[in-house]
Amino acid sequence: MSHKNIFGYKGIGRIILLCGLSILSGCTTIYNPATGQRETIFIDTKTEVSLGLDMAKEISSQMKMVDDPKMRERLEKIAKRIAAVSDRQDIDYHFNIVKEKEFNAFAIPGGNVYVNSGLMEASSDDELAAVVGHEVGHIAARHSVKRLQAALGYQLLSSIALGLSGQKNVLQAVDVVFNVVALGYSRKDEYLADRLGVKYANAAGFDAYGMVTFFQKLKEQGKNTSLSLVFLSSHPPIDERIKQAKKEISALNH
Ligand SMILES: [Zn+2]
Repeated sequence: MSHKNIFGYKGIGRIILLCGLSILSGCTTIYNPATGQRETIFIDTKTEVSLGLDMAKEISSQMKMVDDPKMRERLEKIAKRIAAVSDRQDIDYHFNIVKEKEFNAFAIPGGNVYVNSGLMEASSDDELAAVVGHEVGHIAARHSVKRLQAALGYQLLSSIALGLSGQKNVLQAVDVVFNVVALGYSRKDEYLADRLGVKYANAAGFDAYGMVTFFQKLKEQGKNTSLSLVFLSSHPPIDERIKQAKKEISALNH
């Protein structure tokens, strides 16, 4: 399934409209404990949550979700502990299982996290906690929001400046946003999400070494299957991530 199909153009069109309104309402600068930096936010939490809801609707209409109560209960139990120690407490986190063999997980703006059933089945609780911690880390660091801001800011401002808000323009903006949100975290963002994953797993009482063993499984999976591994291909080299995670874990114990 291509990413373009996951979110319909219509859904993103509404998102652009929402963000447009938000841009007009102005910017705030906040201190973000997840990144340790002051950040300028013009997509506020309320707007982020409502655009996230639109995205979530698109996802649940395009992807098959797992309803198995046992699997859901396992994920909820682990993920709630992670969410409770997240640096970001101004949103509700929701956890979903996608019926998909591929080792993958992703987060969208507003607090929805998706974990593939294949990843869940192959992971221990500590490993799953680390993966959920990584995704919650992306949300806490507002990674997708910042990417959206960068893309939408440019697109919207340029279309306002040119006096164009026609369909063609909107579709172009949608393409930009889509690629950025679905595929485009930087390596820096990924390393930070890994670091936050280790931190949250540890703070929630899991063995943070689950991050390392998860990466090792991911590496094996990559070798042995022909499945296209988004988690691998869009992320920094796995050996580097293992090295970094080990460093973070040993720093926890000092
Ligand atoms: Zn990531």
